[in-house]
Amino acid sequence: MRFSLHDGPGLRTTVFLKGCPLRCPWCHNPESQSYQSEAMYASDRCISCLACCSVCESGALHWDHGPERDPARCTLCGACSEACPAEARKLVGKQIPVRELIKEIRRDIAFFDESGGGVTFSGGEPLAQPQFLEAALAVCKSEGIHTVVDTCGYAPSAVIRRIMPYVDEFLFDLKLADDARHRQVVGVSNALILENLGIIAREHAAVAVRIPVIPGINDDEDNLEQSFRLLGELGLSNVDLLPYHASAMEKYRRLSLAYRLTDVKSPAAARMQEIAARFACRGFQIRIGG
Ligand code: SF4
Ligand code: SF4
Repeated sequence: MRFSLHDGPGLRTTVFLKGCPLRCPWCHNPESQSYQSEAMYASDRCISCLACCSVCESGALHWDHGPERDPARCTLCGACSEACPAEARKLVGKQIPVRELIKEIRRDIAFFDESGGGVTFSGGEPLAQPQFLEAALAVCKSEGIHTVVDTCGYAPSAVIRRIMPYVDEFLFDLKLADDARHRQVVGVSNALILENLGIIAREHAAVAVRIPVIPGINDDEDNLEQSFRLLGELGLSNVDLLPYHASAMEKYRRLSLAYRLTDVKSPAAARMQEIAARFACRGFQIRIGG
């Protein structure tokens, strides 16, 4: 994604690496959770031209009030997406070598230089592809391109240490401070995440902690208090509060995935300001949004 304004300083080119070990119910990038390529279909865009059905050589598409795809037969070749004149079909995710990615990134260097921007590796979870990430970061660093890694922190600590020399800034998610609640909501313990956050806090100069604020899940006093106490103990002061919104719901539909937070509403602006003000007066640099 080019010209992003929310993934670090200046204008950024954000590289989304596919695959994530967590399953946060509010995830905005469900198309990045699986490590494999995926087929997305937007029925509201389909103009019923049947082009996709006629190009599919695997017999995975047939017409039944609309083009129906049989995932068992689909080889994810992408021919239907290329044939679709309405952009109703999209193949998400492709394998590329580091050199090809770097070529793409280099096209934006003039924008980086003008705006103080650079490249941000996000996901999915970029640390889940450590060799690729390390190699890409190392090239960016050697070419003077500012680098940001946006991570959930759930990766072996050795990976964090390996990539750290090539990272100018970390954006580090903190979802729930309590381990039992973290396991219940996200599916894994937060012990490794907090250990990695501690390593970065001690050994790296620039880190912004990102707390998604999700009503009924982590916006209670207990969690907020525990989160800010923990960050205070680690000496971390830059915090982005990210208000929950359900804008990704349509992507779940296009991927035939269930969206689990249908009843959750976005927090009111006044509530976000209230949380920000409470912690700003304790010395934290708070931003609402990223
Ligand atoms: S991705 Fe390829 S195999 Fe799958 S439905 Fe489309 S054309 Fe058929
Ligand atoms: S090619 Fe696109 S617009 Fe045509 S039937 Fe298939 S999905 Fe619909």
